[in-house]
Amino acid sequence: MHTGGDGAWARWELLHGPRDVERWLGVVLDGAEVRARPGDVAPSRELRHAITALAFAAVRGEEAPAAAVAAVNAAARRPPLVPQLGADRLSGTVPQALSTMARDAIDLFGGPLAARVRVCAADNCELFFVDTSRPGKRRWCSMERCGNRAKVRAYRAR
Ligand SMILES: [Zn+2]
Repeated sequence: MHTGGDGAWARWELLHGPRDVERWLGVVLDGAEVRARPGDVAPSRELRHAITALAFAAVRGEEAPAAAVAAVNAAARRPPLVPQLGADRLSGTVPQALSTMARDAIDLFGGPLAARVRVCAADNCELFFVDTSRPGKRRWCSMERCGNRAKVRAYRAR
């Protein structure tokens, strides 16, 4: 979800054209081969925005915003990417890829892991993650990245 957005996030925008959408969906959907057209950029940004809104609501323990729920449900109603025997990765159109992504979002935010969606505790990091640890007390997006930096900072402070 961290590829741009509205307002303060506009400067981080990575989805400018169809090639950007293809690259993004390939990364997010496990190497999927997606063909994008110019008209696919806006719906891609919209679904990203909706899922980001659901993630923030989950982190804050708030009710999911109705507009975000409607956008995710609408994307999920379309046919998703379909696995094929003999193909090592998914391929298809952007509406299919967005449907697959929306269905993943429904699984996450409609299930028990919704309560485990977090934002990294590091000051200079706002990455979302799902805390699948048994105790559910994970604070960092990754121990290698922000966890170690925080440890080093605490060590230096001592
Ligand atoms: Zn982090």
